[in-house]
Amino acid sequence: MADETFDVVVIGGGPAGSMTAGLLARAGRRVAVVEKETFPRFHIGESMLAHSLEVLERAGALDRVRAKGFTRKDGAVFVSHDGTRRARFDFSEGDPASRFPHAYQVDRATFDAVLLDWARDCGVDVRTGTEASDLRRRGGAATASVLAAGTRFHARFVVDAAGLEASAARLHGWSSDAFVRDRVGLFGHFRLARPAASSVDVARPGDIVIVEDPTSWTWFIPLRDDITSVGFVLPIAELETLDGTSPEERFRSMARRVPEAGRLLAGAEHRSPIRGIRSYGRATGRMHGDGVVLTGDAGGFLDPVFSSGICLALGSAERLAAALDRAIGDAAAETEALDAYEASVRRAFGAVQPFVDHWYRGTLKTLLFRSQDNEIVRRRVTSILAGEFWDSPNPFATEGDRWIRALAATVEPRAGA
Ligand SMILES: Cc1cc2nc3c(=O)[nH]c(=O)nc-3n(C[C@H](O)[C@H](O)[C@H](O)COP(=O)(O)OP(=O)(O)OC[C@H]3O[C@@H](n4cnc5c(N)ncnc54)[C@H](O)[C@@H]3O)c2cc1C
Repeated sequence: MADETFDVVVIGGGPAGSMTAGLLARAGRRVAVVEKETFPRFHIGESMLAHSLEVLERAGALDRVRAKGFTRKDGAVFVSHDGTRRARFDFSEGDPASRFPHAYQVDRATFDAVLLDWARDCGVDVRTGTEASDLRRRGGAATASVLAAGTRFHARFVVDAAGLEASAARLHGWSSDAFVRDRVGLFGHFRLARPAASSVDVARPGDIVIVEDPTSWTWFIPLRDDITSVGFVLPIAELETLDGTSPEERFRSMARRVPEAGRLLAGAEHRSPIRGIRSYGRATGRMHGDGVVLTGDAGGFLDPVFSSGICLALGSAERLAAALDRAIGDAAAETEALDAYEASVRRAFGAVQPFVDHWYRGTLKTLLFRSQDNEIVRRRVTSILAGEFWDSPNPFATEGDRWIRALAATVEPRAGA
C-alpha cells in the first residue's frame, strides 16, 4: 500500500469538494481530491441561486461557468396545481439585493466537471475513479487519513464532501439522520412541446417553474438544447396510490394527478430514464472533530424545493477553506476557526429551514401567492429565493418562522395556525 501526505484531503469532487480544494490550493496548501466517479457524470440539482455566482466570482471560476453558455435564470415562478394562482420572484428585486441579478440552470455533468477542472488548475491533485473506503480520525496522531484505491492519504485535515453519502458521519457514528423520511423525488429530462415558461403567463424564459399541489410539487428547469428537467416530489406513502410500479409509470401517474404539471408536460418526449431518490434530507449532529470536517450535503441537506443545495454547498466550502487555511497556519486557532465555520453554516441552514417547513405545511404557499401585492414582503422573500441567506440582515433570514407565521395569519387568518 502506498502512502501520500497532503495538508488536506477532500473526499468528493462535487461543488463543495471542488470549491474547498481549489481555494485551499490557491492559498498555497497541498490538497488532494479523491472522487469515486469519472467525470462527466450525471447528478441531480440543476437550478442555481444568484448568490452562488458571487462565490464563483471570488474564486475566479465564474468566467469558466459563463463560457459554458448555461441557460440564464432570472427568477422563480410558483403555480398552483390548477393553474389559477401564480407568483413570480425576480432575482433583480431582492432586498437585500444580490450582487448578480441572475443565476444559471446547469446540467450538473458539465457544471461539476468545470469546477473540478478549475480546482485542478488551482493546483489540486485530483484523483477520479478513486473511492474512499476507510477514514481514520487523528486520534493521537498528527494526521487523519483516508484509504482510496490502494493508497493511504494522510493529511492534517480530511474534508468529507461526499454528498448525501456522508462517509465521515456514517463511519464515525456522528448522528446523521435522514430527517425527510417520508418524501421521494422522481425526475427526468424531457423535450417539452413548449417551454414551461412560455406556457405560464407571468414566467420569463429561463425561470424555474414550480407547480404546487396539496401533497406534492413539481419542478420544471429549462436546461440547454430545449431539454427541461422535470421532477415530482411527493410523500413516499403516496407512491402506493399511483398507477404502475416502474419509475416511468409512476411519473406518468403523477402527471395525470396534478393538472397544471400534466398540462405543461403534454406532448413531452423523454430524453433520459426516470430516476428516483428517497429520504434525501439529512441533518448532521456535528460538522468537525479530530481532523475531520464535513461540508456541502455531507454536512446537511434540507430539501430541493428552494434550490438551495448548490448555494449552501458553495457558501459552506468557501467558509471552510478560509477556516482550514487559518487552522493549518496556526494550530492553536483550529477549534475557534472550525467552530465559527460550523456556526455560520448552521445559521444559513436556519434561514432556509423555516421556508422549507412552512412550504410543506402550506403556510408559505399562501404567503408566496399573496406576496405579489406587498412589495416589501415580495422583495424580502426574493432575497431568500436568490440565496442571500448567509449572515443577511433580512428579517426573513434571521426570524423566518416568526415572519412567515405572522404574515400568513394576516392574509389568511387560519393558515399560520
Ligand atoms: C431531488 C433533488 C433535487 C435537487 N435540486 C436542486 C436544485 O435544483 N438546485 C440546487 O442547488 N440543489 C438541488 N439539489 C441539491 C444538490 O444536488 C446538492 O445540494 C449538491 O449537489 C451538493 O453538492 P455537494 O458537493 O455537497 O455533493 P455532491 O454534489 O453530491 O458531490 C459529492 C461527490 O462525492 C462523491 N463521493 C461520494 N462518496 C464518495 C467516496 N466514498 N469516495 C470518493 N468520492 C465519493 C460523489 O461521486 C460526488 O461526486 C437537489 C437534491 C435532490 C435530492
